[in-house]
Parts: sequence; C-alpha cells; structure tokens
Amino acid sequence: MTLYFAVIGQTISHSLSPKIHHIFAKKHQIELEYQILDVPPSQFEKSVIHFLNKAHGLNVTTPFKHKAFQLAKNVSDRAKIAQAANVLWKNNQGELCADNTDGLGFVQNLMSHPQLTLREARILILGAGGAVTGVLQSILDQEPEQVVILNRTQETAQKVVDYFNHPKLNLFSKDQKTTPYDVIIHGTSATLSKQLPDIPHNAIHSDTWVYDLLYGPASLLLKNHVESLGVTRFLDGLGMLVEQAAESFLIWHQIKPETQTLIAQLRHQL
Ligand code: NDP
Repeated sequence: MTLYFAVIGQTISHSLSPKIHHIFAKKHQIELEYQILDVPPSQFEKSVIHFLNKAHGLNVTTPFKHKAFQLAKNVSDRAKIAQAANVLWKNNQGELCADNTDGLGFVQNLMSHPQLTLREARILILGAGGAVTGVLQSILDQEPEQVVILNRTQETAQKVVDYFNHPKLNLFSKDQKTTPYDVIIHGTSATLSKQLPDIPHNAIHSDTWVYDLLYGPASLLLKNHVESLGVTRFLDGLGMLVEQAAESFLIWHQIKPETQTLIAQLRHQL
C-alpha cells in the first residue's frame, strides 16, 4: 500500500523534503509518495484538511508553522513550547495531531559540529517566526550566557521574549552598544526573497559562528555577505533539515533513519 505525504508551505519549490523522505523510505522498504504543496495563506487550512482526508502526514514550513499548531487538536509538549508545528497527521480517532521536530533536529545537527558550542555563548537570533520558536527552547537548554532576538517586526520578537520568559533571553536593543556575538542564528525568510536581514553593525567578528537555518542556494546570499564581513565559521541548515525529517519519519513510521550518509550525499550534490 502506498502512503502519501507532503510538505506544505509558501514559495517552497526548492524544498528537499520530498527527496529526503523518498530516500529514507527506499532504505526501509516503505512505499510512499511525498509531494510539495505550495499554497497561499488563504488556502492553508483547507489544503491541510483536504490532503489529510486521504493522506498520512504533512510537514509544515514557512510561513505556516504557527497556524499548523493552532489548527491541531492534539499537540505534543514540544509543539506547545514552540507554539509552532512542523509535523501533522491524524490519529485513529481522526483528530489532527501536531508535533515539532525542529528543536531536536537543530540539537542533533549541533552534535555533529562539536566545535560550535552554545554553552556560555552570547547568541544573536535573527527572526522570530515558527522556525525560531521551534529551536529556541533547545538553544536555551544549552545554557548560553545570553540570547538576544532581533526581528523585522519588533512586536513579534517581544511576544516571543515574553512567552518564553527566560532570564537569559532578551530583545535586541538598538540603544545599546553592540559587541560581537559568539553565535548568530539566522531564522528569517528574508533571503528566500533575495533580501538580507538586518545585521547590527559590530555584531560580527572573525570568531563569530553564523548558523543559517536555510540551506543550499537559499543560504548563499547570507554566506557571501557575512564572509565579506570577516566570518570564517558558517553552517547552513541542511543538517538540521535532514535531522528534523528523520524525526518526522520516526513519528510516522516508527523507524529512525540514519542521517549522516544522506547529509554528506546532499551536501555533495548541492
Ligand atoms: P515564518 O514565516 O514563521 O517567519 C518568517 C520570519 O522571517 C519572521 O521573523 C519575519 O519577520 C522574517 N522575515 C520575513 N521576510 C523578511 C524580510 N524581508 N526582512 C527581514 N525579516 C523577514 O517562517 P519560519 O520561521 O517557519 O521559517 C523561516 C526560515 O527558516 C525559512 O526560510 C525556512 O525554510 C527555514 N527553516 C529551516 C529549517 C531546517 O530544517 N533547516 C526548519 C525550519 C525552518 P516578521 O515577523 O517581521 O514578518
């Protein structure tokens, strides 16, 4: 029996999720079809309900992670903490269930890069959408010295800071003198529309790590920009993408696929 899955988002024709899930499935002899649902915000809810009437699961990406969380009836603790979901499916009672595997995917990817440590680090996060709230608790759990959020819409960042209510988490203040951060995590979708996010003057020095949640060609604009500012330590979100996909696969198929070979293979292809 063929199982049907998709990733739903807006402007996501670049998504590698179908490829990743097809490779995992082939390896574990599971017959599945995984497609891309590129929909405008007005069609999100209708598309989810329609697709899951017949299919088995959905991954959710920009800009719908918050909406996916709000739509679901049964939500995991991880999704509750993030107020965002990237995995949807229906349980045996036909109820919509939601989980969030972004935080775990992020942490597992960090484990493959022990030279990038968040413990006691000063961290600047760019963005305050579903991807950022998905990884924020995992970042705070690493016991950083300070986490500062800067977002285009300050009100949204303020809501995130208020909601997480953590002593190490603050809003970026334009009034304060910026000193270089140890780590900058980029989680905006600005570069998807070929724009650079606002990076404060002096936030970067040559030892700063930049971790972009975007991957592949979508990550190049930021990579080139920060390298021109002296950054030599740059990591894109490809590893996280594969790790969060493996966790989605575990939810749907009760099998956790091996990830490192696929990450290397995709990196080579990109
Ligand atoms: P959301 O739509 O929820 O949030 C988008 C964020 O980007 C908001 O903070 C928004 O700011 C900001 N933004 C959008 N356009 C601009 C712009 N032109 N200039 C500055 N800021 C802008 O999206 P997600 O959080 O779900 O996703 C963000 C990115 O992270 C996506 O590109 C996605 O592909 C990637 N991602 C990667 C993952 C991986 O596994 N590697 C996992 C999850 C996400 P504002 O509040 O002002 O609108």
